[in-house]
Amino acid sequence: MNILVINCGSSSVKFQIVRTDIDLIEKNQDKRLASGNLERVGSQALITLQTEGQPKIKQALPIRDHRAALDFILRWIISPESKINGINSLADIHAVGHRVVHGAEKFTMSILIDDKVIDGIEDCIDLAPLHNPANLKGIIAARDLLGPGVPQVAVFDTAFHSTMPETSYLYAIPYQLYRRHKIRKYGFHGTSHRYIAYRYRQLAGVEREKVNIITLHLGNGCSACAIKEGESIDTSMGLTPLEGLVMGTRGGDIDPAIIEFLHHKEGMSLNEIDTVLNKQSGLLGLSGLTNDMRDLLAEEHEHQDRRARLAIDIFCGRARKYIGAYVAEMHGADAIAFAGGIGENSPEVRQRICNGLEWFGITLDDKLNKQIVGGKEGEITTKDSRVKVYVIPTNEEMLIARDTVRCVKDVPRRW
Ligand code: AMP
Repeated sequence: MNILVINCGSSSVKFQIVRTDIDLIEKNQDKRLASGNLERVGSQALITLQTEGQPKIKQALPIRDHRAALDFILRWIISPESKINGINSLADIHAVGHRVVHGAEKFTMSILIDDKVIDGIEDCIDLAPLHNPANLKGIIAARDLLGPGVPQVAVFDTAFHSTMPETSYLYAIPYQLYRRHKIRKYGFHGTSHRYIAYRYRQLAGVEREKVNIITLHLGNGCSACAIKEGESIDTSMGLTPLEGLVMGTRGGDIDPAIIEFLHHKEGMSLNEIDTVLNKQSGLLGLSGLTNDMRDLLAEEHEHQDRRARLAIDIFCGRARKYIGAYVAEMHGADAIAFAGGIGENSPEVRQRICNGLEWFGITLDDKLNKQIVGGKEGEITTKDSRVKVYVIPTNEEMLIARDTVRCVKDVPRRW
């Protein structure tokens, strides 16, 4: 089947075309045929398109909204210009898989979309006011443009974490607030953590129930996940993606009293404080320079910038602290796996996070650590390292495409 995978953000639409099917999944032979990204939807959009094996096409065009973005994508996919093998008309797109950010307690698995599911995703808007409306726009636009006969599937960022026990997901605030408003930890990046766990199983040759690992998705957004016996038992993001690790522009864990303090001292409104915490904190806030780890590392090395170093040290220290906490919570772990733009590409950050974890049984192999970058996958610890460390480039789109096939064909699916 040819699956169109769609990831709608508030002003962006990313897509992939993946050829997959039940037998291809089993043989791990499914593959991406094309991909693309439309940024700044709503004005002059920056568009990148690529068919596998062909050069990237970049252009700028006015794109009014999500529907216009999807219309543009579909026209390109079936055009002779895209040269996608086996796709010549809309009838060659067999199903659509959507990344949906928040499924709350309602959606614990990927699901075939019907009107009831759309209502359910709408009900979760309170919990993800920026993301779920954009995801819904993508779903409605795809249904309008491809017709109701093309099945669509929702794959939720929160679903993988639905196995967390109450002891992990409840905050120690009055219980009735959970009962009344469902205020609890949900966690995000679930599709990524799940993909990493799946690849770990294949690389280490272990069964699902024997997966005891800590996964670190370190990109512009960052989260850690404790996976015990194949299931997420804790994760660092919370009710929203603001909690946990230090990120590009989010600070992760802070004392909640800072919010009231800021309100009094700086006269900031709740909206302004929200902007500080989501857009001006993290690596950017600490360094005063950039949210980009690559640039910060360059500043630290080339100009000995003190605050760049501080930002990186706090970033790495926080990740290490979560590893320690999860090791205790899981009663030990067999491996740690890095993913995301930073996790996949920066041997230095990996090394700085693992620094001092020798007591726990980690011995990095410096040569392997330096070699495994740029989309490569593999182990970066020495042969005798008791706890293994892996780099596993994440591929959420592949998992979304696979879940789409499984839902359409009604094949039972587990993580
Ligand atoms: P993502 O959100 O997963 O695309 O990750 C974006 C982050 O990855 C940014 O902070 C980039 O600076 C970082 N990144 C990408 N390549 C490298 C690299 N070679 N070294 C350090 N950080 C990198």
